[in-house]
Amino acid sequence: MKLVLASNNAKKLKELGEILTPLGWELIPQGQLGVPETEEPHCTFVENALEKARHASRLTGLPALADDSGLCVDAFGGDPGVQSARYAGEPRSDARNNEKLLAELSRLGERTDRNARFVSVIVFVRHADDPQPIIAEGEWHGEILAAERGTAGFGYDPLFYIRELDQTAAQLDAAEKNLRSHRGQALAQLLERLQAHH
Ligand code: IMP
Repeated sequence: MKLVLASNNAKKLKELGEILTPLGWELIPQGQLGVPETEEPHCTFVENALEKARHASRLTGLPALADDSGLCVDAFGGDPGVQSARYAGEPRSDARNNEKLLAELSRLGERTDRNARFVSVIVFVRHADDPQPIIAEGEWHGEILAAERGTAGFGYDPLFYIRELDQTAAQLDAAEKNLRSHRGQALAQLLERLQAHH
């Protein structure tokens, strides 16, 4: 069974491919099928993921998979949320995003709640008008440190501190991060739900 992935991110393709290929799915990145990136206009992860999956499915006639993820900081009412990748504006920069996150938190004062969570939502549609998309969601709780620690991973990882490990996400190796992360959890849930539906 062929499946279009509404992303051209090579890391996502590899990670998802390793999980879905054994199930008999052939994962094709949308770029290979001439699908352009679509807007992500909504304020929720699930709506954006659904929009991307539908768009890819509509243009290819294939079932589609899409994900959306980001960092939600409690003290900011969940921001930067769906804006996580471009929090500090364009061009996208992890370094500037992290700088802005620290600046905004310190503006709120030393006693500010620094709890945050990474969120990942993955959506699967059988076809563009699928009335019952499969939706999987993962969450990973941590605290935002006052300075970066660790060099692995990407994005906000060096500031995302996991108290029970006394490490940031950027101090974990890839396997350990995948076991615990929002994306790892969403993927595990997706797998369970896909298997239950087929
Ligand atoms: P997207 O899901 O590709 O739209 O990107 C979401 C953005 O959220 C990324 O560019 C990062 O800034 C942030 N993000 C999502 N997952 C992670 C993670 O595992 N570690 C660090 N940052 C993340």
